[in-house]
Amino acid sequence: MCKKFLLFLIITSVFVLTGCTKKQQEKEDTLSAIKKRGELVVGVKYDSKPFGFVENGKLQGYDIDIAHLMAKRILGNERLVRFVEVNASNRISKLNSGEVDMIIATMTINPKRMEVVDFSLPYYYVGQAIMIRKGTAIKTVGDLNGRRVIIVLGTTGEKNIRYFAPEVMLQGYKTYQDAFNAFLDRKAEAMTSDDSILAGFVMDHPEFMILPQRYSQDAYAVAFRKEPQSAALKAQVNAAIAELRRKGHLNHLKSIWMPAASTNFKQS
Ligand code: GLU
Repeated sequence: MCKKFLLFLIITSVFVLTGCTKKQQEKEDTLSAIKKRGELVVGVKYDSKPFGFVENGKLQGYDIDIAHLMAKRILGNERLVRFVEVNASNRISKLNSGEVDMIIATMTINPKRMEVVDFSLPYYYVGQAIMIRKGTAIKTVGDLNGRRVIIVLGTTGEKNIRYFAPEVMLQGYKTYQDAFNAFLDRKAEAMTSDDSILAGFVMDHPEFMILPQRYSQDAYAVAFRKEPQSAALKAQVNAAIAELRRKGHLNHLKSIWMPAASTNFKQS
């Protein structure tokens, strides 16, 4: 009886152990999976001009160009990329569920996010800013106390503004499109976000302006699943970003998508 039980234990352990090993092997390295598939799947914004936006039926922007450059680096062809729309509230879950290989979506590096995703080297620097209608009596972040301000939910801007203007009355929206529309409809006197994203809005609406003050220094980076299988992919992306920076390509992209003459916005 005892021998039988021992045998049962050994057989069960062998099953469990080989099962685990197989499971670990099944979870393929992401870079190998991308190469095998022949396509890079990237989560990007569709409503954040000039980073990821649709105009004349074409998805375009700074982040879209970065994604094409990553496909070129990884697969040797910049067209081998498929885009999946994400927003600030769903991008991490779309990454961690495996729907996308990486996120390139105006995503700021911060310690809380670093607990759940891995970030690449920074590829773009931004600062938090405030957009108003020209002629409005708002001059500084302190003037926002007691006023209605539009934010996009799940963004760093939402968190920062509560700190700088604790009595602000926030109106949150899931997408930039909804947030901008609310601002156009005068649902609030100001909107806060990254200067880079607000600049995209001001490009099309010269009746608005961005206040000169910046109350954060942030950086956008590519996000990966936080797991060992991301290491090779992250190394390739980091090497690509370092090279793009060294060769001046990141600056070139900035001059294409953020032409200095087009806004009253100042990139620090
Ligand atoms: N960069 C900010 C963030 O990551 C705002 C832009 C965005 O929602 O992607 O929260």
